[in-house]
Formats: sequence, C-alpha cells, structure tokens
Amino acid sequence: MTDTIFLENRHTSGVYAKRDVTIVRGQGAILYDEQGRAYIDCVGGQGVAGLGHAHPAIVEAIANQARTLISCPEMFYNDRRAALLARLAGLPPGNLSRVFLSNSGTEAIESALKFARLSTGRTGIVAAMRGFHGRTFGALSATWDKKYREPFEPLVPGFQHVPYNQLDKMEQVVGDDTAAVILEVIQGEGGVHPGSREYLQGVEELCRQRGALFILDEIQTGLGRTGKMLALEHHDLNPDMVCLAKSLAGGLPIGAVLLGDRVGELPTGAHGSTFGGNPMAAAAALATLEVLENEQLPARAASLGARLIAQLEALDSPLVREVRGLGLMVGIEIKQKVAPYLSALMERGVLALPAGLTVIRLLPPLVIREEQLDRVVETLAEVLA
Ligand SMILES: *Cc1c(COP(=O)(O)O)cnc(C)c1O
Repeated sequence: MTDTIFLENRHTSGVYAKRDVTIVRGQGAILYDEQGRAYIDCVGGQGVAGLGHAHPAIVEAIANQARTLISCPEMFYNDRRAALLARLAGLPPGNLSRVFLSNSGTEAIESALKFARLSTGRTGIVAAMRGFHGRTFGALSATWDKKYREPFEPLVPGFQHVPYNQLDKMEQVVGDDTAAVILEVIQGEGGVHPGSREYLQGVEELCRQRGALFILDEIQTGLGRTGKMLALEHHDLNPDMVCLAKSLAGGLPIGAVLLGDRVGELPTGAHGSTFGGNPMAAAAALATLEVLENEQLPARAASLGARLIAQLEALDSPLVREVRGLGLMVGIEIKQKVAPYLSALMERGVLALPAGLTVIRLLPPLVIREEQLDRVVETLAEVLA
C-alpha cells in the first residue's frame, strides 16, 4: 500500500467508498496515477471536469486571479463577480436576470428552496422519485433515495415525491400550498433517465396555473453536458429558477441559482454565503463559459454523444438492458450490479461512474477526443462481452 492510501484510510471520515488508485495529475481527458499509468476519465470529477484537466484557459484565469484578488465578500462590489452575474443572466432561456452565487450544488438547491418559500409564502415542495438534489438537509429532503435520507430523519417538513415522467401524478399533488416543483431535466444519480418533453412542459404549465414555482436542477445537465448550454433548451422550458454547480467554474467549487421574474424581490439579509461570489470562482467560471462558447463544446458534446450512444447501442452484449442519455451524459443499464464491471474497466484504463446499482454512467470531459471515446467503447465491449 502506498503512503497516500495508508494516510487517507487512516484519517478520512470514512463516508466515501474508495477505489484503489491514487490520482496525481490530469491532462485533457486523461488522468494519471502515482505510477504514471494513464486512465481515460469518464468520471470527469463526477461531472465537474467538463473542460477536462489542466485546460490552459482555466489554469491561466485561476493563476491570474490568485495574483490579483482571491477573496471578496458580497458586501463589496467586484469586477469579476459583476461580469459573471451578467454572463449567467444571459444564459438561456434569457429571462433569468438575477443570480445568487454559492459554493456547491447542494447550496444552490438550498437557496432555491428558501427563495421559493420566501417568494410564494407557501411551504410545500414537490420533487421526483429517483431524484437527487444534494446532501444538506433541505436538498436531502428533496432527494428521494432512502439510503441517503433515512439515517438523518426527521428531515425538513413539507416535501413530497411523485413518480418522474408521469404528469397525472404531478397534477394530483401540486396545490395551493405548493411553493415549488423541483426536477432534473435528466435524472443523473437516479440512473440517467431523461424527462420527456411533454412531461417537463406539462409540469411547467401546471406550476404556472397553480401559482407554484418551477425549479430545474441543472447541476449535472448544465453547461454543455447534454449537447446544449442548458438541457432546458432541448424542450424550450421556461423555469423560474435554474440551479447550476459542478462544471461551472472549471473544477473550482461554485454554485449558482438563476432567478426569473416570478421569484419576487428578495429582502436584504434573507440569505447569504461567506465564500459565495468570490473572485477566484467567478474568474474561473467566466473563463469556463468563454471556453464552452469559443470551442463550441455543447455542439461537440451533441455530436460525440450521439456517436457514442449509437456505438453503445450496437454493442452485442447480452448483459446490456438499455442505453440512455443525451450528449455526453450516458447511462448503460445492465442486468447485473455494476461494481465489478467498474473495477474491470479501471484495470483496463477506463474510469466510469455508477448511477444506482445497475447503471454504468459516463460523464467524460466535453473535450475528450473521438479516438479516446472509441477506446472507451472497445473497453466496454470487452468487459461486457
Ligand atoms: C451533484 C448533484 C447535486 C449536488 O451537488 P454537490 O455539489 O455535490 O452538493 C445536486 N443535484 C444534482 C442533479 C447533482 O448531480
């Protein structure tokens, strides 16, 4: 055992399932371990490494900002933060003109939930079965899987879960006390299940009719991952809030919630974050958004993803039940538990994620090269043969 593994095992909290590899360096879509062995990275920092590793534009933005100003609370104005707020407000659908910045996905969700209650004066939150929104108490209350929830009950009151992609079930629960409905456009942790256009548009319409706010959690689907800058573009959705995090700041911690007009004016002091809106994360996020646009990475994710999904569907494996996804967010549901297959992939130099017990999930950097993805498909074919 290396020193690193020994020290981590000895001193970590223990809450993480670990893989037997020490990652020390990354370049593009490749990660390297201590022995210099290369892996094609389809974990992508669990969706954080959209631009891959050591992207020169991100490295430069972070280094420059570190030399200029690292911290600056929101009690002061800051040039980088102002530029980022304006840039985020310009994201589709184009009418989410105010933004609250924080430092992680779960914090973006917390803020959205608090703003929904504040703005509507209602308390109910409706979320979906299989949905995942984070691990702090509010976000956890919106998360469905009891493995995450049960040890921490009682959770926040007022949350309900209904089956995803079933509009009639949603119609039965959204009422006068519903502050918001929160959904993923494609359920990520829950197994890579895309929401249908009719469903997502129907929920939006229902929220409008019944005075509830419609929150989209695009923490995993956002920023080019699914082949559009935001996944809501696939279905022409107009939510009242959009939560972002993961890949937004090129790998640095960040969270954001974009707010539409139906979210009322928020009173001074109603919410806040010490690190939120810091110039380091803002500079990294600005650089990330610029790279996504300049390198046309959403379009790249669309074409590479379509090719990848077609190749995976053509795999002639009796183990594969279904291939699902959009862009470079891909799930391969198999007929057995995925853990041993993930280990077999790693032994062959490919890192991939689970999504639930039976889905292999691929979240490669959007900059991954075509031949690297071909290698991933070949390796999957070997392992699933
Ligand atoms: C990862 C994720 C979160 C939680 O983000 P953290 O930064 O881990 O708190 C919330 N929602 C979705 C859809 C996610 O994929």
